[in-house]
Parts: sequence; structure tokens; C-alpha cells
Amino acid sequence: MLLDEDADDALDRQILGYSQRYDIQTGLLNYPAFRVALAAQLKGDPAAREVALIWIDLVNLRREFTLWGWAGAEALARRVAGALRSVVDADALLGRIGGRSFLVAMRAGKSDKDGRRRIQLVMDSLLPLRVHGSEINPEVAAGVAFFPCDSESVEELVRFASLAATRAGYVRSRAVVAFHAGMNSLIMRDHLLEVEMRKGLEQDQFSLVYQPKVDLTTGQVLGAEALIRWNHPGWGQVTPTEFIPIAERSDLIHRIFDFSLRTALEQTRRWNDLGLWLPMVAVNASAVNVRRNDFARSVRSILGEIPIAPAQLELEMTESMAFDDEDLFTTRVRQLKAIGVSIAIDDFGTRYTGFNVLKRVPLNAMKIDQCFIRGIDRSQDMRALCQTIVAMARQLKLRTVAEGIEERGELEVMRQIGCDAGQGYLFQVPAPAEEFGVFLREWPERMRSFGFADGRQAPAIDPL
Ligand code: C2E
Ligand code: CA
Ligand code: CA
Repeated sequence: MLLDEDADDALDRQILGYSQRYDIQTGLLNYPAFRVALAAQLKGDPAAREVALIWIDLVNLRREFTLWGWAGAEALARRVAGALRSVVDADALLGRIGGRSFLVAMRAGKSDKDGRRRIQLVMDSLLPLRVHGSEINPEVAAGVAFFPCDSESVEELVRFASLAATRAGYVRSRAVVAFHAGMNSLIMRDHLLEVEMRKGLEQDQFSLVYQPKVDLTTGQVLGAEALIRWNHPGWGQVTPTEFIPIAERSDLIHRIFDFSLRTALEQTRRWNDLGLWLPMVAVNASAVNVRRNDFARSVRSILGEIPIAPAQLELEMTESMAFDDEDLFTTRVRQLKAIGVSIAIDDFGTRYTGFNVLKRVPLNAMKIDQCFIRGIDRSQDMRALCQTIVAMARQLKLRTVAEGIEERGELEVMRQIGCDAGQGYLFQVPAPAEEFGVFLREWPERMRSFGFADGRQAPAIDPL
């Protein structure tokens, strides 16, 4: 056999040249080559028709990794590349940047209807994809920036599209989010909030307020929900609906959960020691908390530090958690129940949780979202709907709690329907520990004004 060293060298050079320009796995341009090609295209076309630069992120590839490992995740990347190729025009540029991001540069204008439709086609091509014989719907977040109106610099266009994609990831939308000038500051604001939260946790800026859950038959306080508050030295009160979603994107949400759990348990213990009996305290757990492998273990370990019965703790988990990952949710609930903790499903009715899911999971309570309670005394439809929910919960042996009762009429309807417990401004706005202690002390008197028979609990009977 003749060794043709020159030919080998040429091949080597070719391969080297290829790997310098292309991503080996997908055959798409790598980022440096994409940048050069796009700059050349924009310069070489003085008519400078508008170009859309789309940044597509594959989010949450963990499931693919666990199923198939790295090779599987790369197979998915190849499918994505194939799908993109099949849908764009011949003069579009396709690139891959990092492991999970893709770039598409195609002719389309910011205010051009056909362009928007074609951009949406690019997104639609990604759903669903077949990988190793399975059909999967990758979670994607995509952002777009336009040449020349957003920027005439390739570097900047890519940065802007990436910012917009980050934004898309936050709102968890499947739509392509278009870059706008305010985005820089939004991202900066989120970043600032995260930095300040970290500081705030160290400097005791967080605290809990408590809101009672009242038995709608007897008027007794069944428990209290602990809600977090952040008092920032410069900004004042920041609401949890603002900072929890940002905390959920980092380890901060775990620190917040640990803080809430520990503080709520210690406080409950303190009240009990003062003779203010609070049968149960509820702490909110985010889906991000519950997904953590060692979630149940960490709950048990905190419970172990504080002399309190596990049955005095309830964890509230949102309905969307059950909906998004039923198996994981079921596993977690079982682990927590084994510890002796009670589980409530929060915001019930805001996402449709199949009856079957609820049947399979050993839950204790269901909190009916406030949007069903609001004005229920003025709507027969809402009343009928809540009646069905309460009946269904009863079949499943779940305690029902009506959230956000603000008016007397709403209380009356929920009582008539047979809902077990109620919570809301009507009884008590969420209050700091000290004030809640006063509430606990005064409630037996106050509850009469809500039509509950007798305020005072019967004196305990001496067992002798
Ligand atoms: P949520 O768990 O559904 O909590 C109930 C929310 O309704 C609370 O808002 C409470 O203050 C409010 N509320 C109570 N009664 C009424 C009423 O009669 N009318 C109206 N309109 N609202 C009422 P808040 O404290 O602003 O909390 C908002 C959300 O933030 C909570 O919704 C929960 O999802 C989350 N959150 C609060 N604390 C924590 C926490 O420690 N950890 C986590 N992960 N999330 C928390
Ligand atoms: Ca809650
Ligand atoms: Ca709720």
C-alpha cells in the first residue's frame, strides 16, 4: 500500500479547518465562524434588508441527561440542528454556541408580519423531536434582536438576543421574546435583587407573618400559615411575589425555605410554651425546593433540631408542582408523610390537576384558590363549582380550606357549602409573631362576632 503523506496532510488540514469552523456534533457553524459569516453577509448586502437574529436555549436538559447521558443530549442537539435546517431559507445562517444554545440569522424585519410568521415556524419546528425512538418536547427559551433597528453590530445583536432569551426563560413562555431597550435594565434589576437578597438573608432583613386558618364549624383556630416578608433597608417592603421567582433561579430559594421552616417551627414552639396552643403551622414550599433530592431529609433534620411534633407541621405545595411532575410529586409526598408531616395542595383550581393524580397522592388538605372565593356570594356558578370541589375533596378525605375570605357573604357561602376551614383578611390579615400572639389570645372572644357559637374551649377534663 502506498502511503500518500501529502494526501493525509491535506485531509488533516481539511478536518482541522472543518473543526475550526463547525460544531462537530451538529455540523452547525461554531460561534466565531457564525460571527464572521454574519458580519460578511450584512456588509455584503448594502440593500441591508432586515435580519432577525434568534437565540434559542434548550432549557432544563437534566431529564435528557439522566435518560441518555451526554450522548443522548448531543443526539437531541443534532435533532434540533436538523429541524432548524429543514425550516430556514438557504441563505439563513445557523450556529451553535455552548452546549445548549443555537443561533439563527434569517431575513425578517421587526414589523414584518411574514417575518414573524417565519420566526414562529422556526420555533414550531422544534416541537416535538424524536430522540432514541422517544418523542420529546424540549423546553426552549428564545429571544430575537433585529438588524439594523436594534443594533448594527453583530456582537451586540447576539448579546441582545441572548438577553431576550434569558427573559423568555424567566417567563417560561414558548414564544420568541423580542429584545427591547429596557431589557438591559430589567436583567440588571433581577441581578440586583438577587445580590440584595443574599445580603438581606445574612442581615436579618427577612421575617415571617402569620395568618390563621379557622375551622368554619367550630370557629377554633386550626393552624396558621407562615408567609415571608422582606424589609429592605432602602426599598422598604418587597413582596414575595416579586422576589420568590428570582430566588427560585438560584440556591436562594433553599435558604429561604430553611429560614421559613426553622423560624415558623421555633415560633410555634414558643407560643405553645406560652400556653397559646397553635395546633399546626404551615410553610410554603416552592416546586424548586420539592424537586431537590434531599428535600425530605432536610425537613426531617430541621424538625429534629426543634422540639415539636412533625404532625404540627404542614407543607403547602402548589398545584402546578403536582401537575408538572406527577411521579416526583408523589414520591416526595410519600417521603414527607413518612416523617409525619401533613401536606396541603395550594392554589387549587388554578391549574387543572387530574382527579387521578389527587387520588394517588396521600394529601391531607386542599386550599381552594382565592379566585374562586372572590364574590362567591354573588355568583351561582362559582357557588356550584366550589360545591363540586368540596364534594370531590371530601371523597378523597381531604380537608378543604377556602383562601382569601374578605367578606362576610363569602364566609357564609363557604360555611353553607361545607368547606372545613377558612383563611383571609376577614378574620385576620397576616401579622408579625407578637401581634399574632395577641390574636391567639383574643380570638375566643372575637370569634363570636363571626357567628361561631362559644368562643372558649371547654376546659380540659382531668383524666383522674
Ligand atoms: P399563597 O401561598 O397563596 O399565600 C396567600 C397570599 O394571599 C398571601 O400573600 C396572603 O397575604 C394573601 N392573602 C391572605 N388573605 C387574603 C385575603 O383575604 N385577600 C387577599 N387578596 N389576599 C389574601 P403574600 O403574603 O403576598 O404571598 C404571596 C405568595 O408568595 C404566597 O401565595 C406564596 O406563594 C408565596 N410565599 C409567601 N411566603 C413564602 C415562603 O416562605 N416560601 C415560598 N416558597 N413562597 C412564599
Ligand atoms: Ca400558601
Ligand atoms: Ca394559596
